[in-house]
Amino acid sequence: MLTDKQIIGIRAMQNRGFASRSVAVKFDCSHVTVCRVWRGETRTYQERLEHRYWSKVKKTGLNNCWNWLGGLDNGGYGVFNHPLLTRSAHRFAIILDGRNPKRKVVRHSCNNPQCVNPRHLLLGTHADNVADRVAQDRSATGVKNGRAKLNPSKVQVIRKSKESIILLARRYKVDCKTIKKVKLRQTWKHVI
Ligand SMILES: [Zn+2]
Repeated sequence: MLTDKQIIGIRAMQNRGFASRSVAVKFDCSHVTVCRVWRGETRTYQERLEHRYWSKVKKTGLNNCWNWLGGLDNGGYGVFNHPLLTRSAHRFAIILDGRNPKRKVVRHSCNNPQCVNPRHLLLGTHADNVADRVAQDRSATGVKNGRAKLNPSKVQVIRKSKESIILLARRYKVDCKTIKKVKLRQTWKHVI
C-alpha cells in the first residue's frame, strides 16, 4: 500500500518523463504498482474520500439542486460520516468547495435540506438562519414546527414500501389520505 506522498511523487515522475521501471526502483515498489498509479487507478486518501462522497450525490446540471442519495437525518439533511470533520453532507460539500464552515451555519439558498450543490450553500451565522426561517414559509417543505409525524427519511421508506396504505397509515400514526399524498408526491415534493 502506497502512502499519499508516494502516490503524488510517482505521478510527478510521470509528468517529468521518467520510465516506469526506474520509478519503481526509486520508490521501492513494483513496476505494476507504478503503472497503476499512472493509469489513475490508485487514489490518494483525499481522492478516495471525494469519490465516496460524490457517489452519493445526484448531480443534475450546474445550477440545479444536487440531492443527497445517502441517508438523511430527521431534519431531512444528508448524513455523511467523516470520522473527524463532520457528519453533515452539506457541510462536507462546503469543505470540498474549499470553504471553512467552522463555527458557521451552512444555509441553503434553495431551501432544500437534501441539496449539496455548493452553489446553493451559503455560510452564515445562527441569526441569519433564524431570519431566513421567519422570512420563508417552511410549511411548503413539509416539516411543521416539530408537529409533523413524518420526516424525509420516513417519506422515503413509505414511497419504497409495497405494504398497504392502511398498514403504513397505522404504523406512522397518520391517516390514509396523508400516505396517499406522500406516494403520489403531492406532499414532500422536495424529497426524492
Ligand atoms: Zn439546492
